[in-house]
Amino acid sequence: MSPLLLDSHMHTPLCGHATGTPREYAQAALDAGLAGICFTDHIPMPAWYDAPWRMRRDQLAQYVESVRDAQQEFAGRLDIRLGLEADFHPGTERYVEGVLSAYPWDYVIGSVHYIGAWGFDNPEYAAEYDARDLRGLYRDYYVLAEGAARSGLFDAIGHLDLPKKFGHRDPDGYAALHALDVIAEAGLSLDFNTAGWRKPVAEAYPAPDLTRLAAERHIPFVLGSDAHKPEEVGYRFTDAIKQIHDVGGRIVAYQGRVRHG
Ligand SMILES: [Zn+2]
Ligand SMILES: [Zn+2]
Repeated sequence: MSPLLLDSHMHTPLCGHATGTPREYAQAALDAGLAGICFTDHIPMPAWYDAPWRMRRDQLAQYVESVRDAQQEFAGRLDIRLGLEADFHPGTERYVEGVLSAYPWDYVIGSVHYIGAWGFDNPEYAAEYDARDLRGLYRDYYVLAEGAARSGLFDAIGHLDLPKKFGHRDPDGYAALHALDVIAEAGLSLDFNTAGWRKPVAEAYPAPDLTRLAAERHIPFVLGSDAHKPEEVGYRFTDAIKQIHDVGGRIVAYQGRVRHG
């Protein structure tokens, strides 16, 4: 594996649904031959939004400290960066802006996990897919992804085609194409998220055709395993690199919210 590879999407137990300490994630990255990692735990949000799945605002300092402790412990051996996976949900932008201004983040992912009040990637609510028109669902989803791209808050869009997670694929792709135009225009990258290979859809985010369409628009990719346990760090990166390079795509990473590579 290339010595310059970073895994830029992983979580910590502070979010309440991940296991393993930051130092265990770091050790797993070293064992996998990676050059570095960026922690991107779920951002604190207003109390009414998805509270059980994220750290509280008063735990943010503890998160930053835990990453800084790992940075010190692994100095000279592994490049450890500090990031967040932020949510884009209309009405919460100012709150998110406040969190983003509180610390010097290296990288911020903007993810859409909700369409209205529906947490569409939560397996508990997957039955809702059958009650919806898939075209309309994807249209609504990509409008939100475009909102995330235009917000100016984020460096990359998280797991672009996430509504396919349980196998409900996009029936046409027009909304995705439009979103890619907006993402390219806004100068953002895409989180190339290998967690999709661990889900029922058994396909990384974004899908191969969207990877090609993104590469054609010169949208770069940031590799991420979306690890919620140390064993998932660097998950299927060889396959990810192949999918990106097959279509002439470029892999980048962020430091101090500046894109490199
Ligand atoms: Zn998570
Ligand atoms: Zn996510």
